Amino acid sequence: MRLLGVLGGMSWTSTGLYYRGLNAGVADRLGGLHSARLLLHSVDFAPVAQAQHDGDWDLTAQVLGAAAGTLELGGAEAILLATNTMHRVAGEIEDAAGLPLLHIADPTAAALLADGRRRVGLLATRFTMEERFYVGRLHEQGLDVVVPGERDRATVHGIIYDELVRDVVRPESRDAYLAVVDRLVAAGVEAVVLGCTEITLLLQDGDADVPLYDTTALHVAAGVDWLCAD
Ligand code: GLU
Repeated sequence: MRLLGVLGGMSWTSTGLYYRGLNAGVADRLGGLHSARLLLHSVDFAPVAQAQHDGDWDLTAQVLGAAAGTLELGGAEAILLATNTMHRVAGEIEDAAGLPLLHIADPTAAALLADGRRRVGLLATRFTMEERFYVGRLHEQGLDVVVPGERDRATVHGIIYDELVRDVVRPESRDAYLAVVDRLVAAGVEAVVLGCTEITLLLQDGDADVPLYDTTALHVAAGVDWLCAD
């Protein structure tokens, strides 16, 4: 089996889901006592989150590029960056490590297109919803992406940083997210992308009137495919 480098800690609450999902996926695929060959570098999220909110993406690229370099030194052959937001600097991380990165938006777009979805909503951090690096990548693959309005973006972003990355899951926040999904449905979306790796703690497919696409699960599945490929 190949060795996959996981760049985690953003936040640790979702990195735990990745660790479990990658192992469960490999065990399902290969049977017996098989488990995932992983090298995990889990960063301290506080300085990364501070740099994001300061708009200092160069600093985030330096921190994550250095962490990715340790994965390459340890023998990893590809990188799974266990967060949507930090794909803002995916290219810099790839360059720093000299390794391919399994981009989280690609299995997400593939799943949506395979199911015939075209117009989709996006729930994510403000950075992912408002900048081009993510929406643009979905758009290039043929998807029309609708983001919530300003007030809803603030709500979605606040719940991620104030609660989900701290392992706090509140029913009121689930209701607030479902209300945002309803407004996206009213705007004509056929599905909603849970474009932040912690949102699956709060909402799952089946909770809303439209299908919800969990980027954590889709990214994990892409990692399992990579690990089990010949
Ligand atoms: N894990 C989140 C995401 O998927 C947010 C935390 C971060 O900024 O990395 O975007």
